[in-house]
Amino acid sequence: MAEKVLAAVRTGPSKTEFREYPMPDIPDDAALMKMEVAGICGTDVKLYAHPPSSTPVIMGHENIGVIAKAGREFTRRKGFKEGDLVFVEHYVMCGKCEWCHRGEYRHCENTDWRYNPDAVRYGYTSAEKAPHLWGGFAHYVYLPWNAILHHVPKGVTPELAGLVTPMANGVEWSLFEGGVGYDSTVLIQGPGQQGLSQTVICKQAGASLVIVTGTSKDKARLEVAKKLGADHVIDVQTEDPLARIRDITGGRGVDVVLDCTAGAGTMPILLGVDALKRKAGTIVVQGEMPTFPDFPIGKITVKYVTIKSARGHSYRACELALAQLASKRFPLELITTHRFGLKDVDLAIRSVGGKGVPDVIHASLMPWE
Ligand SMILES: [Zn+2]
Ligand SMILES: [Zn+2]
Repeated sequence: MAEKVLAAVRTGPSKTEFREYPMPDIPDDAALMKMEVAGICGTDVKLYAHPPSSTPVIMGHENIGVIAKAGREFTRRKGFKEGDLVFVEHYVMCGKCEWCHRGEYRHCENTDWRYNPDAVRYGYTSAEKAPHLWGGFAHYVYLPWNAILHHVPKGVTPELAGLVTPMANGVEWSLFEGGVGYDSTVLIQGPGQQGLSQTVICKQAGASLVIVTGTSKDKARLEVAKKLGADHVIDVQTEDPLARIRDITGGRGVDVVLDCTAGAGTMPILLGVDALKRKAGTIVVQGEMPTFPDFPIGKITVKYVTIKSARGHSYRACELALAQLASKRFPLELITTHRFGLKDVDLAIRSVGGKGVPDVIHASLMPWE
């Protein structure tokens, strides 16, 4: 095996440097993963342009790879051996707290970088912290005993498996948070990889009506939404979205609203609250903005609206997402539109943000290409 590991390192806002790190020693209870695919999402776009800290970071938090080396204890305790194709969650748990015991380690303090300066999370943790390999935009990733792994089912390619994170978020946000199920009516705002994944999950769960909104630049994505099962698509720039939703639902409004927009300001929440049914609808929000001027708290109270927060995914959501990918029930290759090599990581991130290669929905970074 090589002595050095090549990585793309974020060294400042929208700045990448290529660096080599020593190949780590793998203790008995750890493993090393050879990267296959790092999915790039809207969070990468944000963190690349506005890094939350000045420390160098190997980004890449949606990681698929093959176990290249596994310590004996790692295999014995965790059930993963050399040669296995795996999805590694970006959360690295403590394994001891209440959240971890509930299987909700996404809330564990050990991986909460906003709260804990020593937190470990793939794609976020400083590359200065030994053994350095804490991100997927690299040839190898280090797996300590408390990394959380899933087997990629047979027949699912690494590139398709690269969709597991948006799909797992789809399960978590629409089904577990939003309560979407049989006969639900759903408004999904934003036809990016996240909104399209939600579309597939809602359809699979039995939603009787799925409406997807976008803007005029989303024309191609809205077409994909239809192919993935959306019953109606709305261009919010050329149509009155609320009038259309009222028309489609016979004036009733929808049961659940999922906000999957980026940089759209207060509009998606305001539209979402108005588009919800008369009483007891649910809206799942992402809270991109720190504050919300003129927040319609009165209307939310009168309509008895439940607001839920989108916060990543649980273990079960990942397992269900992988099963969904393995089912091949939906033409998900319509979402995995582009592949980039490691040297093009800057272009890849900008493209996902709509500023590089046109018409990218989901970008797969292939670190060995
Ligand atoms: Zn992501
Ligand atoms: Zn914990």
